[in-house]
Amino acid sequence: MFLDIHTHLDLYEGKMMDLALGEIERNRIFSVSNSMDFISYRKNCDLAKKCKYTLPIFGIHPWNAHLYADKLDSLEEYIEESLMIGEIGLDYHFVKDTHQQIAQRRVFEFFLNEAKRLNKIVILHTKGAEDDVLRMLRHYNIERAIIHWYSGPIEKFFDYLREGYVFTIGFMVLYSDFIRVMARKLPVNQLLTETDNPGGLQWYSDRAGMPILVKDIVGEIARIRNENKEEIENNIWDNFMQILTYDERNVIMSCMKNPR
Ligand SMILES: [Zn+2]
Repeated sequence: MFLDIHTHLDLYEGKMMDLALGEIERNRIFSVSNSMDFISYRKNCDLAKKCKYTLPIFGIHPWNAHLYADKLDSLEEYIEESLMIGEIGLDYHFVKDTHQQIAQRRVFEFFLNEAKRLNKIVILHTKGAEDDVLRMLRHYNIERAIIHWYSGPIEKFFDYLREGYVFTIGFMVLYSDFIRVMARKLPVNQLLTETDNPGGLQWYSDRAGMPILVKDIVGEIARIRNENKEEIENNIWDNFMQILTYDERNVIMSCMKNPR
């Protein structure tokens, strides 16, 4: 079983959507579809009814945080029903406006507080804000965080690791020496895979990423770590199961058996 812990299935359009869902089913790629806002979450929930290997999760992306900073109460019921929280976090790299950054911190802190209260996993965007994200995770005493597409300072990467947080390796492992170093240094139990489809690869190469990309990512991690692909695939699945509580694991197992 392959794992794509950070994808955005709602962002596929038209025919591409059917192709993507077909690839997920045929290749058994369990796909956690992260949301950018309410609308994106609703779409992800509808998609999950069509494909048993997808899990829709709720989050407000830092790029959209300023639209929700004054409506935090309206987020609560969605946070409660979502098995994990994502995509949330901070972004000071692409968002330079200080008012928006203030709004990002307000929304992010609200989510962290809720994640702690409800004991939920958070999937995090940390671009250019690695210090603040780590400081807030410590402040809210968050134990289960997945750091998506990390690209910050290498020393900070080790600080996150020491807190026991888990990292994703995505398609940039095929192109970036920095990500290859991360893929080599990650302790075997703190490693997950993601694609950030469809936009990630599109941003890099102008073609939409498809779910099958996760197989190339696993292949490259195996090459870098000098292990075989099946071993890496199984390790990653085991890591995913390990990070889940008993009840969360049951939810995932039952959605794979009984499509909603
Ligand atoms: Zn994303």
